[in-house]
Amino acid sequence: MINFPVPYPDEIIYSTIARYGVHFGITSPKQLLDDIYGDRKVVATIDLPNRFSLISAHLQDSKRDNGSKFDIDTLIYEHTLFPLFAPFVPEDRRIKCRAWMKASSKGAIHLMLGIAASRIKVRNHLRYCPICIQEQISIYGEPYWKRIWQVAGIDHCPLHGLLLTAQVPNKTQHRHQFFPAMPSYCPIQPQSIAPAF
Ligand SMILES: [Zn+2]
Repeated sequence: MINFPVPYPDEIIYSTIARYGVHFGITSPKQLLDDIYGDRKVVATIDLPNRFSLISAHLQDSKRDNGSKFDIDTLIYEHTLFPLFAPFVPEDRRIKCRAWMKASSKGAIHLMLGIAASRIKVRNHLRYCPICIQEQISIYGEPYWKRIWQVAGIDHCPLHGLLLTAQVPNKTQHRHQFFPAMPSYCPIQPQSIAPAF
C-alpha cells in the first residue's frame, strides 16, 4: 500500500504520479513505476493513461475512502482528457475505452479515439501558465499540471495569457518518466496577454 496524493482540481493523473515521486524523494523512474504499478514497462501518458483500477485502489487505500470520489470513472472523467473525446464516439466504444483505461489498452485507445475524434488533437509537449504555477505554489505548496493546459486548440490560460511549453526532456527518450511541474521545467517567463474578445 502506498500513500498516493489526492489529485488537485483539474490535475492530470500523470501529474499526481509525478508528485508522489517528489513527496517521497524518488529520483529513479523505475522505482516510481514499481511503487505505483509494480511494472516498469508502463508508459508515462499525459492524455489517456490506463490502469486506473490500480490508481483508484491506491487512493482508496491511502485515504480510507471507499466513496465515489476516487472511483475509476470519476478519476477518468476528472483527471484525464477522455471527456474531450467521449462525445465523438458511440456509447459502446466509450464503454470499451473506459474498460481499457481501467486495465490496460496497449495503445488501442489512442487508435480508436484518434480515428473517431481526429479533430481533437492532444499536444505532445506539456504546457503551463507561469502565473497559475505561482498561484498553485502559494495555495497548495506545490505546482501541478492542469488538464486544460494540455488541450490542443486552447492556447491561453483563461486568466493570464499565452501558455508556454514546458522544458521537459524529449518524451521519446523518457517514455517511462513522470516529470513534475517544478520551476526547473516550468520557468517563470513573461507570457503574451490573451487577445481581447
Ligand atoms: Zn494562468
